[in-house]
Amino acid sequence: MEQGKGVAQPHGGRLISRTTTKNANGSFSISVNADLANDIENIADGIFSPLEGFLVKEDFDQVVSKGRLSSDIPWTIPIVLDVDKDSATKMKDACDVNLKDPEGNDFAILHVEEIYTFNKSETAQGVYGTTDPSHPGVSKTMGMQDFLVGGKIDYIKRPEETAIRKYRKSPTETRTFFEKSEWKTIVAFQTRNVPHVAHEMLQKESLNTHDGLFVNPLIGKKKTGDYKDEVIVATYETLIRDYYPQKRCFLATLHTEMRYAGPREAIHHAIMRKNFGCTHIIIGRDHAGVGTFYDPFAAQKIFDDYPDLQIEPIFYPAFFYCKKCLSFASERNCPHGQESQEQLSGTKLRQMITEKKAPSEYLMRPEVFKIIANWDRPFVD
Ligand SMILES: [Zn+2]
Repeated sequence: MEQGKGVAQPHGGRLISRTTTKNANGSFSISVNADLANDIENIADGIFSPLEGFLVKEDFDQVVSKGRLSSDIPWTIPIVLDVDKDSATKMKDACDVNLKDPEGNDFAILHVEEIYTFNKSETAQGVYGTTDPSHPGVSKTMGMQDFLVGGKIDYIKRPEETAIRKYRKSPTETRTFFEKSEWKTIVAFQTRNVPHVAHEMLQKESLNTHDGLFVNPLIGKKKTGDYKDEVIVATYETLIRDYYPQKRCFLATLHTEMRYAGPREAIHHAIMRKNFGCTHIIIGRDHAGVGTFYDPFAAQKIFDDYPDLQIEPIFYPAFFYCKKCLSFASERNCPHGQESQEQLSGTKLRQMITEKKAPSEYLMRPEVFKIIANWDRPFVD
């Protein structure tokens, strides 16, 4: 970063904190699902800085059409609360609304500022670049309630600790850690996958030229056939313990859903990691894509539209093991043909997991494969 020292500035210049010791005092309550509850906690902790709550109409329109807030600060994914007409009316009257988590606990207060309607197809087209209902984000958008409620939130009560939640960190915690470690350049690695050796090599390659590595698996709703959160965390735990320099790597989970918005989600992923204090983020081929909806390099090209992002993307080509180079390589540095390349496709790995037949150890660490193969139902149903 230009300032030359310390971790990156939070997005928008100030780390948002919306936690309170107040009690739930609204005159109306609504329940939100687990994904929304996670995002409200993300707002409270500043992971979504500069957002202080759900988008109001002016911001929503700009985010959908331009990928920026009305203040012109980059923001690509609408963070909104959708409700039906009856709730919308009651919330408008209530002003302060208690938000309940799926267990029925009052966990946050929403200060209602504005209630508005929106065009679902335009929203899908703007965010996902398509209105094809087979895109998971489009189908979710089309299924939303008709009214959006904008306003700041105050966070009251955290959920129970779980094995996964112990890896959830706030930007304040990660920034303190990075500063104590005296890391000046920190590379974020976003993942929703179990680690292949190719991923490991890519991460370690970035450590040759940067101080720290922030491995940050995304935890939350995924699609059928994706690896379960617990499997991803357990495999990274083991891999990092056995194969990574402990003083240069930090594992934390990010609790938010995958939106499969391809390029726009790549920018969103970068913004969240900037808030954690990262100076760089690895953006791979087809980052946050789904099916064949996006050009594999669209998620890299979109960074040209955001010269003011203040976190630097690192673009890597696809890595493969080359039997002639005797190392991981890419088409940029390996002259050998496809016949000397070995790659582990997701489909091939799934088949090997079913058959409990381990891939060669230069494609997947045996310790990692063992965890997945021994897991009872490692995939999302
Ligand atoms: Zn080669």
